[in-house]
Amino acid sequence: MNTWKNRAALLKRRYPAQFEDLPNYMISIDPGWFEPIEEACRRINALLTNEEKALFRWRQIKEKFGGLRMYWNEGGVYMDFMSPDGLEHVVVEPQNPRLSAATRERIAGTVAEAAAKVATRCQTCGEPGTLRQRGSGWLVTACARHVERPDSPDLEPDED
Ligand SMILES: [Zn+2]
Repeated sequence: MNTWKNRAALLKRRYPAQFEDLPNYMISIDPGWFEPIEEACRRINALLTNEEKALFRWRQIKEKFGGLRMYWNEGGVYMDFMSPDGLEHVVVEPQNPRLSAATRERIAGTVAEAAAKVATRCQTCGEPGTLRQRGSGWLVTACARHVERPDSPDLEPDED
């Protein structure tokens, strides 16, 4: 079975330090996006020294406005807002980070690459997709088949 909870559990098993103490409901990964998200975890795991592995933690992974958000402990505060020009983002730098600026930059780069990668992948099936409006305007990244909400319990996060 391939559910939200199983995908979260799989990442926790592969990268226990990255997900330490993070409840499953903070890890909502659509099936079509699992692969790029797992790849980001793998690459971050490879770039951190053993000492740094103790300092890096995911805070939340989710889809928002059809885009991927991977929040981590020293990634600063990330805010979305709608302006007349469309969706904009602001990042407020973290206070007193313990990871070096160079390491944080590499992590941020890896997170940004994952977000760019999923921007052309259907959240549901992983096939080529684009940002589309579902129903009353909800934004999703989807293929033509999955633009309407698929009737699948797999797309609802399990609460622990
Ligand atoms: Zn699809």
